[in-house]
Formats: sequence, C-alpha cells, structure tokens
Amino acid sequence: MTADRLRLHFNENTAGCSPAVIEALRTLTACDIASYPDYEDVTAKVAAWLGVAGAQVLLTNGLDEGLYAIAQHGVRRGPGSDARFIQTDPTFEMFEEFARIVGAGLVRIDPEPDFGFPLERVLAAITAHTRVIYLVDPNNPTGRPLPAGAAESIASAAPQAIVLVDEAYADFAGRTLIGQVFERCPNLVVGRTFAKGHGLAGLRVGALVGHTATVAALRRMIPPFNVNVAAIRALDAALTDDTYLHWYVAQAVESRRAIAAFCERRGLTYWPSAGNFVLVRVGDRASGITRDLAARGIDVRDKSAAPGCAGCLRLTAGVIAHTEQLITALEDILASRTN
Ligand SMILES: *Cc1c(COP(=O)(O)O)cnc(C)c1O
Repeated sequence: MTADRLRLHFNENTAGCSPAVIEALRTLTACDIASYPDYEDVTAKVAAWLGVAGAQVLLTNGLDEGLYAIAQHGVRRGPGSDARFIQTDPTFEMFEEFARIVGAGLVRIDPEPDFGFPLERVLAAITAHTRVIYLVDPNNPTGRPLPAGAAESIASAAPQAIVLVDEAYADFAGRTLIGQVFERCPNLVVGRTFAKGHGLAGLRVGALVGHTATVAALRRMIPPFNVNVAAIRALDAALTDDTYLHWYVAQAVESRRAIAAFCERRGLTYWPSAGNFVLVRVGDRASGITRDLAARGIDVRDKSAAPGCAGCLRLTAGVIAHTEQLITALEDILASRTN
C-alpha cells in the first residue's frame, strides 16, 4: 500500500503480498533475470492448486491479458465485423474495453432489480454471431453470485462462443466452477487472478482454465513469454503460503460483515457480497462522500455511472483495521454532511 493513502478503490489486497513472496523475489539472481522464463513448473503448481491438468492452465499477464486473449479469439472465429460479445450490466469495465480494442459489437443486458442474474435474457440474446459471453462470479461491482447451473446452460446454448466465468474473487467466495465442467462444456473458460487474494496485482499474474483444446487455442492469442520471471517466482512462493491466503480471506470476510453492519445501522442499502468489496447505496451524496473520504486519505470507487448503480460506492473490504478506519471516517462524514 502507498504509505500515506488507504486504497479501497481497486479491490487490491490491503495487506500487501505474503512475506514469502518478498523473500522469494530476493533470491532472484542476475542470471535468472537475464534468462527467458520457464513456465512448466509453476504451471504444474497452479494446476495442482486448482485440481486440473497442467495443459488446462494458461498463465497470463494479469487476468486482464486472459480477457484480451478471449476477445482476440472471439473476433478470429469468422468475420470479425460480425462478432458480438454479451455482458450483463453492471459488470467489470475491462470487458467493454477489450470488445472495443478488438472491434467486436457489445450486447449489454440491463440489470434486474437487486442485481439478480438475468438468465432468460442472456439466453434470448444469443445469436449465431455471439462469440464471447462474459459472466462474473461473484460479480464486480455488485458482489452477487452467478446462480448454480447458469454458466453451463449458457455454454450449452452458445457452442459457437467462449463463455468466460471470471472468478477473480473466488478466493473470497470459496467456490469455483473448475473441475469436470470442462468435459461437458469445452467452450466454458474460467478466469482467475493472483492479484486479489494473493496480493500480486503489481506483478500482473492470472490464469485461464478450461478444456485442453480450448486452452491451446487461447494460448495462440498471446505472446510466448507473456509473464515475467519475477511474477513467476512470486507466484510460486505465493502458492506455498496458504496460511497467508486464509488469513487474508478471513480478514476480508470480517470486513464485509463490518461494512454490512455499518449499512444496517445507518439504514443504507447494500448488497451482500461474496467478494472483497461491498456495493453501498448512499444516494446523491456519492460524489461528495467520495471527495470527503479522499481528503482524509481514503480512496473508494464511486460507481454512479455504472448501469443500475446511481448513488453507489464500491468499498474494498480488506484488512479489518483498514475497514474500521473507513467506517469511522464514513460515520464522521455522514454526521457532518447536511446532504
Ligand atoms: C480485478 C479483476 C480482474 C483483473 O485481474 P488482474 O489479474 O489484475 O488483471 C479481472 N476480473 C475482475 C472481475 C476483476 O475484478
């Protein structure tokens, strides 16, 4: 964390990475740094951690690069100008960004009341031109779950498309689709990142996980040495320190509860979250509160511009002491604001 600010606007790990990662980075030699990285061992380690075969895992330069690979793959399957990608709003902003970069048309599904998952409307939006469907579990920014079976139904209804289930927050949700599903749904791909729970956001490392043939096709969309040697060394060390991950997840779970309790005390609407963040509706005061918090050195995300999120702030739930700092500041600001 930047020493003088509390960063609660990117859903980063507010504790930093495991000390084991720092130690491992210190062991990098001049020779290591001068050599192109080898991904075999660490890929096997990630695969074992996820319970799949090594050939089902593609390491990426942050999950963002995995999203880019999926978008590229989408426009290369037939005439690119016909490609349509589907997302359910509100969702992670990078989907729209990558659709734009590769020149695909984006079909946006409007939110349901209370951000329920619009399964019927996603199914109805699928056409022969659909090449990518973006799903997120739990969703960012709402924290809401993808209902059981929804991803498989969508993947079966759109065999011409890659169905991404972005599981950036799986560590906090304690659930994953990874497993036998890839045999039944070879067009379903799960995205994971080591940025959030493991605290490696600055090193950029994530993974796509899926059917061996699908992962091989996605591999052809990205450069061969896409993840650097420091990220590989860090990832290897991070995977050895489950104690750290479990500690951090427990902090985030407690923080999410503390934010929920604060909202209930204050009569604010919030959506129960399975991630390391909570979406809270503060109404017209959203931009003012964001500014007031920033003036106190606390950064939060005003999501007002996102569909269905008018007047909503997304608060990162990290280390409990940081959350307490946030709640104290919020109490203070709410008490002093006339609006
Ligand atoms: C943070 C986030 C990512 C990006 O992860 P990186 O590994 O940092 O690129 C992807 N998807 C969602 C939903 C996220 O919130």
